[in-house]
Amino acid sequence: MRTTLKQYFGYDEFRPLQEEIIANVLAKKDALVIMPTGGGKSLCYQLPAIQLSGLTLVVSPLIALMKDQVDSLKANGVPAEFINSSLSAEENFQIQEKARNGMLKILYIAPERLAVESFRQFLKEVNVQLIAIDEAHCISEWGHDFRPEYRNLKKLRQDFPEIPLIALTATATIKVRKDIVEQLSLQEAKIFLRSFNRENLTYFVQPKQGVDYQLKALLAKHKDQSVIIYCSSRKTTEELALQLRREKFSALAYHAGLEQEKRKETQEKFIRDEVSIIVATIAFGMGIDKPDVRLVVHYDLPKTLEGYYQETGRAGRDGLMSECVLFYSYGDKMKQDYFIRQISKEDERLMAEQKLDQVIEFCELEHCRRGYLLKYFGEKWETVNCGNCDTCMTPREEFDATEISGKILSAIIRTGERFGINHVADVLLGKNTKKIKDIGHDSLPVFGIEKYFKKEDIRHFILALMSRDLLRKNDGEYPTLRVSDKGREFLKYRQKIALSKPKNVQEKSVVKREDDLAFDGELFRKLRAFRKELADQKNVPPFVVFSDVSLREMSHYFPQSLESFQGITGVGAMKLAQYGEQFLEIIVSYAREFQKKELIIPLRQSSNKVRTEKSSKSESSSATFQKTKELLLQKLSISSIAAKRGLSPGTILTHLEKLIEEGGKIDIAHLSPSEERLKKISLAFKESGGSMLSPVRKILGEEFSYEELRLARMFI
Ligand code: ADP
Ligand code: MG
Ligand code: ZN
Repeated sequence: MRTTLKQYFGYDEFRPLQEEIIANVLAKKDALVIMPTGGGKSLCYQLPAIQLSGLTLVVSPLIALMKDQVDSLKANGVPAEFINSSLSAEENFQIQEKARNGMLKILYIAPERLAVESFRQFLKEVNVQLIAIDEAHCISEWGHDFRPEYRNLKKLRQDFPEIPLIALTATATIKVRKDIVEQLSLQEAKIFLRSFNRENLTYFVQPKQGVDYQLKALLAKHKDQSVIIYCSSRKTTEELALQLRREKFSALAYHAGLEQEKRKETQEKFIRDEVSIIVATIAFGMGIDKPDVRLVVHYDLPKTLEGYYQETGRAGRDGLMSECVLFYSYGDKMKQDYFIRQISKEDERLMAEQKLDQVIEFCELEHCRRGYLLKYFGEKWETVNCGNCDTCMTPREEFDATEISGKILSAIIRTGERFGINHVADVLLGKNTKKIKDIGHDSLPVFGIEKYFKKEDIRHFILALMSRDLLRKNDGEYPTLRVSDKGREFLKYRQKIALSKPKNVQEKSVVKREDDLAFDGELFRKLRAFRKELADQKNVPPFVVFSDVSLREMSHYFPQSLESFQGITGVGAMKLAQYGEQFLEIIVSYAREFQKKELIIPLRQSSNKVRTEKSSKSESSSATFQKTKELLLQKLSISSIAAKRGLSPGTILTHLEKLIEEGGKIDIAHLSPSEERLKKISLAFKESGGSMLSPVRKILGEEFSYEELRLARMFI
């Protein structure tokens, strides 16, 4: 497995769980894989696909992604194609033909294909060995992205009851998980669940004060890198993009109100590194697998934490350190409250309120943001300081908060522990709201006793007291507050308490954690420009040529020979052969000019050398080919070899074709069709003018099976 990993993908190590999942797949067992975005799910079916003798079918809902995935696989030397509505009938046919001829390892298809009877028939004619369902949550109505076409997958399961199926998703809810298992009738599927912690993402929440200045400073820091800025309205995206362009940033707006063509073009420009900043509504992101997004900004408050996690999750898929910055202001919250009040359905409105409250709680946290997020998604998280979010990196200055805390707790008790943050704060500040007058809270002794702090500060303290467990939220529809036993003791024994000062009261100095490899920026830029040139020539996105991870390593180690170049992450056999020399030339001349010495790339695995012999050769010398060969030498028929080996006849034919192709001397006279039939087939091949099977079958009709034609082709 590790050899294949380096050979085809250029990686030295598996990410967590990948190895276990692949072993499970190769043992022909079903699996459900739940991993966060960027976890490396694709590899879990792509690597087995290479090792299995037949075809791996991948169902994916995102047509836009298929091409990139297939391009990436091809660039790594894996024969892959896709079939979806973007192809012409002719292209479609060619690809099916390739699959029939055993010339494909991986075939991506859109789920709606499975509704077409003839397509399902086609699948039965090819040697399917593994089925992968990507974005498997689309099958569930409980998920956020239900696709009715995914219900066709049931049929697929019926057609291939024996073939192992692997379902993959980044959606973690238990309801959806159960639904996937049921809908796909996964057989005793093993569930692989990985932590949703995205270690390489840094979470920042910044008070939105002079946001233009803050934003520009951020963008300057991420110059020439891919950035997504999320805004809450279409209008803002356009205005902000325009403003940024005026300031010479490379920025475009994206939202659902733009024409389809325009949206596609914008997305394409981003993927191809022709624009670096996308200012978008949340309509942007699905269907973008760009691995090198280094910064995701929430210019406005997200509506839910689910959304926030998903949107920030688009940063740093390649595993390099990336930032997520949310600009927070209480004013934004009020704005959203206003919109929420317009929702007429009561349950929807309450839900929206609750979701927004959680976002606010997240923004005003005193402790680790990562921990809060993970716990929100139901994960156990014990680490107190993650070292990689603003609250963990900059502990706030504390002050003696005994007095204000006492006032807050008393106000909550005096008002009967039936009210939320807003009302309690209003009472303390002596506001003359209608609610206060109606209930008569203006006659309470706590009314108007706070003169120094503002409403926002009081909110901050209340949340802090909650996280210290002096206050709790009541269960029930409305987020009302009550004083905990601990809180009562605090009052009773006149205990002291220190809390951090509210944000706007203090300055922040951020300590940046730098985890990634240091690299030579100038060489990186050169390599990046060359990568873009190559990518344009081949009409693929730059990351298909090499990822940022690879370029950074090249700009750190300065490899001076192909031998050392192959040690770079992402350099597999195919890329070594295709691009090695060219990239090396740039690195060598740069190193000479600036007197850079080659550094030794640490050997991450003993087996991480790219094998230089032709991969097909090593393939046919593998055990499975040899077994088939032995049985052939015993003059068994194709079908009895297939039966003996528990493989399909198609697979055995593929073995035979490979063995012959490589000049192996095997006597297969006993397999030949009768002379008369061979003649007919031979004529039909001539007539068809090629070596493809289906035109020949069209000429000859049902009486000749694909198998026979394939066999005959070897003799002809
Ligand atoms: P997911 O589908 O889980 O969001 P992907 O399969 O798109 O994630 O992988 C995300 C990125 O991680 C890709 O750029 C991929 O090449 C890279 N990757 C996957 N596995 C490894 C590995 N073992 N070592 C290094 N990079 C990997
Ligand atoms: Mg994926
Ligand atoms: Zn933290």
